Amino acid sequence: MLMKKNHVEVWDSCLKIIKDNIHYQSFKTWFEPIIPLKIENSVLTIQVPSQFFYEWLEEHYIGLLKKTITKELGPEGRLEYSIIMDNTANSKTPYSIKVPTSNKKDTKNPMVNMPIDLNTDKSRDIPNPFVIPGLKKIKVQSQLVDTYSFDNFVEGDCNRLARSAGYAVAENPGKTSFNPLYIYSNVGLGKTHLAHAIGLQVKQNYPNHTVLYVTTEQFIAQYIESVRNNNQNDFVHFYQMIDVLIVDDIQFLAGKEKTQDVFFSIFNFLHQKSKQIIITSDKPPVEMKGLEPRLLSRFKWGLAADLQMPDLETRIAILQKRIYNDGIDIPYEVLEYLAYSITNNVRELEGALISIMAQSSLNKKAITLDLARSMIDKFVKSTTREISIDYIQKVVCDYFNLPVDIINSKTRKREIVQARQLAMYFSKKHTKSSLATIGLHCGNKDHATVLHACRTINNLVETDKQFRIYVEELDKKIKI
Ligand code: ADP
Ligand code: MG
Repeated sequence: MLMKKNHVEVWDSCLKIIKDNIHYQSFKTWFEPIIPLKIENSVLTIQVPSQFFYEWLEEHYIGLLKKTITKELGPEGRLEYSIIMDNTANSKTPYSIKVPTSNKKDTKNPMVNMPIDLNTDKSRDIPNPFVIPGLKKIKVQSQLVDTYSFDNFVEGDCNRLARSAGYAVAENPGKTSFNPLYIYSNVGLGKTHLAHAIGLQVKQNYPNHTVLYVTTEQFIAQYIESVRNNNQNDFVHFYQMIDVLIVDDIQFLAGKEKTQDVFFSIFNFLHQKSKQIIITSDKPPVEMKGLEPRLLSRFKWGLAADLQMPDLETRIAILQKRIYNDGIDIPYEVLEYLAYSITNNVRELEGALISIMAQSSLNKKAITLDLARSMIDKFVKSTTREISIDYIQKVVCDYFNLPVDIINSKTRKREIVQARQLAMYFSKKHTKSSLATIGLHCGNKDHATVLHACRTINNLVETDKQFRIYVEELDKKIKI
């Protein structure tokens, strides 16, 4: 007897067929996120991330899906969707609703509680996600992630302006002069998180506002699909209904002229109607390349605010918040060590935290400073670790048993002056920072003081044997 395939195997086979029949990008966008849930009496249930997603599949891929399911499960085969509903404004836990795939021969409407009646538009075989039946307002899936809230976004000097502008926007969307609000930074510094936080806050303040978060890649993919299906107008109308539009990573619009045109017209429409637009990018507007000047000039209408790498204190606070939310207990010294060691971006910082937790649970070891050290060795070295001034100060102060903030104090006590000079010397040696920057971070001194420190240390190394041993030991510790 033949073994029956389980739901994962069936869906895998379906995916193979689908992959051969559509563009790779569409496959990635619309099929990779799907999770097969179960198979029962020839009904395959798949989980899709949102209502919008489901509608898109039904609109664009129903033919292909039906053929594929029939091929895999025979003529009896059917597909049912489990949709994760957007309920960010109401409660914490997501819930799913089940929807069978549409069947144009069906006269009875199989949908319960669905915002779109599949059978309203008799002229079409399949529903269009952009059309509003009877001009009722469509329920747009915001695509917002609950955990990316303001509560979870730790405030620091690095993000104060962007954060408070974002908060102001969420209080009064479209009504402040921060329109568009343009948030920019290097990767992993919290743009996406902040953008979601604003969206979530708007939904809390104004439950009836239609908020939409899209990545620029999604926007482009949707636009291309609409051209392919000759329904660009529906695409534009859909976006014109949005009250708060969040477009993440706008730099990906570079060189996409047609999509820029359509985004330009949507932008103008929304802006004229005092709808809020939030854009994120990896560069400030003046440095953006490959975008039409008229679009760039729009980006300068509102406020451009950047996010910087959080300082040490904020980095520790971010880690603390994270483990608190996850309900995990990790010794403070481990968090501090991570925050000292990882200075490129917050995503890497969180990555290191997750690796340590994984290491500890896989090897059944307690999370200790030693475990953190050995992990960071591998982790950070493999991601071209940069030694920071903060880190050097920490190593130097630990070595002499001094509290770190003493370096920044005004004291002229000999041992402290020497620790400060060593921190300057190693910062010059191991970082790319300018003398002025080093001075600023080591007790607010000027570049001449740093230069003098480097000379003094060099002299001592040459003349004082014991001192040379200190310096060599410290050098090893700094390089780990
Ligand atoms: P970007 O979009 O700039 O590349 P993300 O928003 O994806 O960065 O942030 C990367 C990770 O760092 C996310 O998990 C985010 O939650 C976290 N993160 C960044 N900044 C903060 C912050 N200030 N407080 C808490 N978490 C942060
Ligand atoms: Mg991002």
